[in-house]
Amino acid sequence: MNIHEYQAKELLAKFGAPVPAGHAAMSVEEAVEAAKKLPGPLWVVKAQIHAGGRGKGSFKELPEGSKGGVRLAKSLDEVRAHAEDMLGNTLVTVQTGEEGKEVQRLYVTDGVDIAKEFYLAMLVDRATGRLAIVASTEGGMDIEEVAHETPEKIRTIIVDPATGLMPHHGRSVAAALGLSGALAKQAAKVTASLYKAFMGTDASQIEINPLAVTEDDELVVLDAKVGFDSNAMFRHPEIAELRDLTEEDPMEVEASKYDLAYIKLDGDIGCMVNGAGLAMATMDIIKLNGAFPANFLDVGGGADKEKVTAAFKIILSDPAVKGILVNIFGGIMRCDTIAEGIVAAAKEVDLDVPLVVRLEGTNVDKGKEILNNSGLPIIAADDLGDAAKKIVAQVKEAA
Ligand code: GDP
Ligand code: MG
Repeated sequence: MNIHEYQAKELLAKFGAPVPAGHAAMSVEEAVEAAKKLPGPLWVVKAQIHAGGRGKGSFKELPEGSKGGVRLAKSLDEVRAHAEDMLGNTLVTVQTGEEGKEVQRLYVTDGVDIAKEFYLAMLVDRATGRLAIVASTEGGMDIEEVAHETPEKIRTIIVDPATGLMPHHGRSVAAALGLSGALAKQAAKVTASLYKAFMGTDASQIEINPLAVTEDDELVVLDAKVGFDSNAMFRHPEIAELRDLTEEDPMEVEASKYDLAYIKLDGDIGCMVNGAGLAMATMDIIKLNGAFPANFLDVGGGADKEKVTAAFKIILSDPAVKGILVNIFGGIMRCDTIAEGIVAAAKEVDLDVPLVVRLEGTNVDKGKEILNNSGLPIIAADDLGDAAKKIVAQVKEAA
């Protein structure tokens, strides 16, 4: 689960990170009011979307050459003009894709004079299973590009969970950023506050880009991206509340209501499978047969008719779907339950794409009987390979 920059900064400030003062705004008037509460004479008006690269982004509705989604303002009139430019318009950045994202919220902050921009992040390193601190002197820009062009400028520091963060980790961060004296001490302090925030909130990622040195030699968090482990959000209801559903794929939001593991993909064959491993294998075998899956979907072991119906509807609500492959191994899940769900959903939504079903396992005969008697044009398959071949052939034929 991700949150907006302003929410991330408010959270990090609670853990002691140095964050410039700022206020969120949902309207132009609120943006001007927010600016009035800050001392000035420099403000920053920032579009709040769940994507980076806003500064270099551009708005679809504004003429070419207009400024991006992070703008400095030297007067309240400028704050107002920037807010008018951004709110309700679509910001396109390297991370949003061509379609961009509509800006519904702004963040108005104290502007600072920047002397240098660093990169500092914390994330879970899958290889070591530990928290990794990533630090680079090359902040403010695209870190992927730095990693590609000049990997030696990125330092990774692994923290042993048995000891937690130690003073030497803070010194290593300072050294990686080329800092000494008072700034080195500040870097260690920032690192400690981010670590506390990471552990205290079950975060999966904290990325500060840039961590800036101001002209007055202060370290400040100028941009913050924070993501959390969704499976831990039941422990943090106050963080779960920060979720902004308008920033997420509507189909994934719908799926999460039913506790379905659904991820939208680019292909045209919808998949409904039980078990993550079988779902992966199903996607692979669709590709092997020359087509692409439209989604990953694991209905889980204990799915009931309601869940299967919801899953089916979600798959069908994707206009890219040209055919559906249902691949169920009835272990805990019974084949007749799946069959009932498929029939109920197909009748509700006016199924108009070919549907191939492969059922195996508990109550398979009952399941097949339900499908056969449903009056629906369902194509039965014997095994996984057969199922993939049949659905790919059907979709190609229809195209
Ligand atoms: P991003 O483009 O989405 O990553 O948004 P950022 O919050 O990182 O802002 C982009 C860039 O705007 C930063 O790298 C800074 O160079 C600049 N910027 C952001 N806040 C300030 C500020 O307070 N003062 C100045 N001078 N520049 C800022
Ligand atoms: Mg940034």
